[in-house]
Amino acid sequence: MKKNKKCSKCKITKNIIKFYLRPERRKGKGIRSICKSCDATRKSKYYSTEDGFMKKLFSSTKDRKVFSKRHISHSIDFTREEFFEMWKEYKKKYGMFCFYTGIPINFIKSSEHIRGNQVSVDRIDNDLDYTKNNIIFCSSKANFMKGSVTIDMCRKILALYEERQGIDKNNKIDTMKGHNQ
Ligand SMILES: [Zn+2]
Repeated sequence: MKKNKKCSKCKITKNIIKFYLRPERRKGKGIRSICKSCDATRKSKYYSTEDGFMKKLFSSTKDRKVFSKRHISHSIDFTREEFFEMWKEYKKKYGMFCFYTGIPINFIKSSEHIRGNQVSVDRIDNDLDYTKNNIIFCSSKANFMKGSVTIDMCRKILALYEERQGIDKNNKIDTMKGHNQ
């Protein structure tokens, strides 16, 4: 049995352990034509395209377990097709920008411990699951920051802010009515 094989991509002859086996359906031709390292390069290129990145984002969202006060679950109520539809709608409405911070978002995966500006899926209310009604796209960085902020905290911050700024909610509504007339 041959011990070495030439990679069809990088043209380097390598030991066959540097090649993946083909899936079983391709019996007879046991070893793939491109080597493991060329395969890794190909994969990482694909995952930094919009299509590859969003597919991966969907599958990691689908597999993610949600730990909340009340339960542990991993329920999503949308299909991959619906996920892509929501992303399309998001881009139409907000562009390629983080919902929370407005900074440009991208498909570049940053290294393990750094929260970058790549697209991520946030749960608006951290106590609820990844559902159509409860998700929004934002940067990974903003997602991480918001992870420890509850809806109740947001309400309190806003209420305090408005109080300190002397903003009267009822007044604001009246002004808006005035504009519409
Ligand atoms: Zn190769």
